[in-house]
Amino acid sequence: MECPKCSSKWSVKNTAPSSDTTRLHLRRKVSEFLAWYSDDYVVRLRFCQNCGYSAITVELEISDFTSIIRICMNEKPDVFLKKKGEKCLHLTE
Ligand SMILES: [Zn+2]
Repeated sequence: MECPKCSSKWSVKNTAPSSDTTRLHLRRKVSEFLAWYSDDYVVRLRFCQNCGYSAITVELEISDFTSIIRICMNEKPDVFLKKKGEKCLHLTE
């Protein structure tokens, strides 16, 4: 991936798959958003050597991703729209 701040290479510094029990600090932030749906995802801590920007990214199967969006929009459009602006799109903060 490219660093969203400077477009240099955005390297993986740490990875926590769903079976990982030693990197719970990485998974905790994501679990806050995804626990209602699944705990089967991969969390990666990325770091840019150029500008120092660091953030967490999440790897999900595309069918899970589209399913999550569909459920949110169909069942709780008000909450989804609010969360979209406030949190859902900022999982890497
Ligand atoms: Zn950068």
